[in-house]
Amino acid sequence: MKILILNAGSSSLKYQLIDMDSNATLAKGLVERIGIEGSRIKQKVGDKVFEVTTPMKDHTEGIEWMLKGLLDTEKGVLKSMDEIGAVGHRVLHGGESFTASTLVTEEVKAAIEANIPLGPLHNPANLQGILACEKVMPNTPNVAVFDTAFHQTMPAKAFMYGVPKKYYTDLHVRRYGFHGSSHRYVSKRVREFLGLEKEGSRIITCHLGNGSSLAAVKDGKCLDTSMGITPLEGVLMGTRCGTLDAAVVEYLVDNTDMDVKGVLNMMNKQSGLLGISGISSDMRDVDAAAAEGNEDAILARDMLVWSVRKYIGAYAAEMGGVDAIVFTAGIGENNGKLREMIMQDFEYLGAKLDPAKNAACADGHAYECTISTDDSKVKICVIPTDEESVIAKDTLCIVSGQPIVD
Ligand code: ADP
Repeated sequence: MKILILNAGSSSLKYQLIDMDSNATLAKGLVERIGIEGSRIKQKVGDKVFEVTTPMKDHTEGIEWMLKGLLDTEKGVLKSMDEIGAVGHRVLHGGESFTASTLVTEEVKAAIEANIPLGPLHNPANLQGILACEKVMPNTPNVAVFDTAFHQTMPAKAFMYGVPKKYYTDLHVRRYGFHGSSHRYVSKRVREFLGLEKEGSRIITCHLGNGSSLAAVKDGKCLDTSMGITPLEGVLMGTRCGTLDAAVVEYLVDNTDMDVKGVLNMMNKQSGLLGISGISSDMRDVDAAAAEGNEDAILARDMLVWSVRKYIGAYAAEMGGVDAIVFTAGIGENNGKLREMIMQDFEYLGAKLDPAKNAACADGHAYECTISTDDSKVKICVIPTDEESVIAKDTLCIVSGQPIVD
């Protein structure tokens, strides 16, 4: 079966067509600037590129162009859209409504809509992507895969915030966590890779990319994670500040010309590596400036390292120890120097990095590997993430009536 993976943003659609029989990615594409001037589509099938700039007023027109690309006789890969067996949609916020991926029904769409206040930037776009597929491909089933679902196993003591309980019961204020498909994928892969039994395993997954989060995964289930009700909480990120005292918001509203929305926008989009270094949100640029002695860049990098170390220590404490620490995503997979800085002086916990193994798996050469010394009690691993394969496999299981087994 061929499965289409769709990640719909407010003005974009990222897609991949995967042949589940051969496990091959047949096409990858991006529709951009939907609803604004300069709408365009760029799709790659091997070395064939389908590229068109043309007005697209909404997601439905974006999906129509995606199908034109996939069906193109020269640069496409499909003869008929009926070859697409199902569409798997990445949906940001499932709130407490979803603990697993699910077939899209009227109730599911209503629940995604009901969770819009929790994911105001992404959920409307994700829903539009689903509605557009239903309109353009009425006979193709849609499956929703939630970024939050994997974290729904957290106990209340981990997900509750210490505000009066009525804000949880009435308004669902709590930690949800994100990057769920990635944490789920790498925690499972590392168990397979190291031959660890699911029961009794204690794994810390470090997804370090533009957005970054960590998770404590015990017995194959998420016990805690660093992102919160939104992806703003946790470690320092590319443009997000991560955890801080909430009173900063009032202080800045009182002492600047920003309102609450302005402060939150600044905390989400102008903070983190970008805000501290003043150079870039991209770790490579920050590293380059730090190598030249730029003090703000050095500070930004030190803050990221510091915050990740803090969560590793906390999660080891929560799980009563740790068997494996896993690095993934753009920074986690490629930045050996940062991994080395993060894992410094963790011998007390039984985790010892092997500098040579660590350096070999970096800079675009990420592969599944162990980067700890042979005598390290805690294994430190790099596992390249593959959220698309999680979405594709869940979608296949759901539309073919198979149980999802992790
Ligand atoms: P996103 O969260 O948008 O998916 P990524 O997981 O691609 O982002 O992570 C982006 C970060 O990964 C950037 O800070 C970038 O510097 C870093 N990164 C990506 N590729 C490489 C690479 N080949 N070498 C070093 N760093 C990289």
